[in-house]
Amino acid sequence: MTQALDHLFANNRQWAEQVKAERPEFFAQLAKQQTPEYMWIGCADSRVPANELIGLLPGEVFVHRNVANLIVHSDLNCLSTLQFAVDLLRVKHVIVCGHYGCAGVRAALDDVRVGLADNWLRHIHDLRRVHSRWIEKFPPEMRADKLCELNVIEQVVNASQTTVVQDAWARGQDVAVHGWVYRISDGLLHDMGMSVGQPEELVDLYRDFFKREG
Ligand code: ZN
Repeated sequence: MTQALDHLFANNRQWAEQVKAERPEFFAQLAKQQTPEYMWIGCADSRVPANELIGLLPGEVFVHRNVANLIVHSDLNCLSTLQFAVDLLRVKHVIVCGHYGCAGVRAALDDVRVGLADNWLRHIHDLRRVHSRWIEKFPPEMRADKLCELNVIEQVVNASQTTVVQDAWARGQDVAVHGWVYRISDGLLHDMGMSVGQPEELVDLYRDFFKREG
């Protein structure tokens, strides 16, 4: 059955040769160390590949992805990845990137059962419940997009409130958390205006989002 995947190995050999032809030292240098400036926390959706859509090569962005780009306070996987990025790699930017048309967000909005992942998506159900009045101000066709944006804003708050980021700020480390949303249909990123570089900025930026968004 592995023959069914032969084309992936062929692709890989072709890619490695192409990179080496363009930059002969690339892999040798990369093997020695990674020094990414950016961490990406995004959705696992196959249409949202972190490196490609921000035009970065291997070694330039440290990536964590899960369903609906959630940063859950007790998720050891996400927290460990964040801690590694901030404490050891000393990334300067943590980018939380959602995307319009997210199936996880949509399922939470429409109360659609998808299976085990319903328990993970419960975090978005909670957001929807807490902010139901805000969401219902928008016409039904806009609500999924608005919940995607709100989810990113809330995950920026969650990332900023982790002990990892709080401790980094307390020791004067230069690291900021940003909230973006990607639109699959045109390939463009949208800045949600939520870039937190200091703990005291968080409350105002959060409030500003709701002011801007009515
Ligand atoms: Zn998604």
